[in-house]
Amino acid sequence: MVFLPSPMTHNLAVQIMLNSFYMNDDIKSNNQAAEFNQSGFNLRALDNFIFDLDGVIWRGNTAIEGAVESVARLRAAGKRCFYCTNNSSRTQSDFATRLKAIGLEMEKQHVITSSSATALYLADQFKAPFSAYVIGGEGIVTALQSIGAQVFTGSEADGFPSDTTAVDCVVVGIDRAFTYDKLRLAQHFILKGAGFIATNRDATFPTENGVVPGAGSLVASVETASGVHPVEIGKPQPLMLQLALEQFHLPAATTVMVGDRLDTDIACAHRAGIPALLVTTGVTTMAVALEATGEYKPDAIFENLPAMCHAVLGD
Ligand SMILES: [Mg+2]
Repeated sequence: MVFLPSPMTHNLAVQIMLNSFYMNDDIKSNNQAAEFNQSGFNLRALDNFIFDLDGVIWRGNTAIEGAVESVARLRAAGKRCFYCTNNSSRTQSDFATRLKAIGLEMEKQHVITSSSATALYLADQFKAPFSAYVIGGEGIVTALQSIGAQVFTGSEADGFPSDTTAVDCVVVGIDRAFTYDKLRLAQHFILKGAGFIATNRDATFPTENGVVPGAGSLVASVETASGVHPVEIGKPQPLMLQLALEQFHLPAATTVMVGDRLDTDIACAHRAGIPALLVTTGVTTMAVALEATGEYKPDAIFENLPAMCHAVLGD
């Protein structure tokens, strides 16, 4: 384990500016923030853990060694555990099923996806029943329907109703059946005044066959065609985490994000006003993590979840 000076002081102004609501009173004042820095990061005070999935809990379809046991130990000690992913293609139930299959006990609502967070955001912005045109997969469609939205997908070629001339919002995530006609419809609705929401802006993601275009590549095309910047829900933007903190009443001072990427997980946590722990079981090496600065700098770094667990539980 490597303890690092907390970036709280550096980030404090940014955090308060972004969302002072989530800043715990204990770290709102500069004096207390300084004390927080001097005393090092207090792992024992943490009650709530929000885990990234890929590179932290699993790698592909395989659980990372010690991950399931670590979560079980945290839960046995009374800690609450949540899971947070930018992946918008699958439903919360799909992820819950996969997590249970590797032996991890949890409730499906404790998986926060960029789709479920998008639904939370839209439920707050619009009164149901509102309408949405979706470029994306089942994860988005299911999440929006669950809050009573009227969801349109596809294009005229596959039955899109030609008398639909306007919708309240356009939601874009990963869509493996993306077409020019979908792009044209999204552009049309946005130019007519529909809100534009991106589940996330991951430009690419890795597969067994190499890197492939991610949701961000599709979002960029809609942004270019419409000339409108989207509201971004997923990491590294703070909305998804902020919505989770609010939904589950998690105090900023006792809640931590655990991730494997500096530019998504760690930056997102700091922008949302909570600390961030890095494990080096995913994309970021210890050498790279130690060089990180500003919002990319983790509050502490561990080789794996068992090491983090050991430090948190003090055993
Ligand atoms: Mg990851």
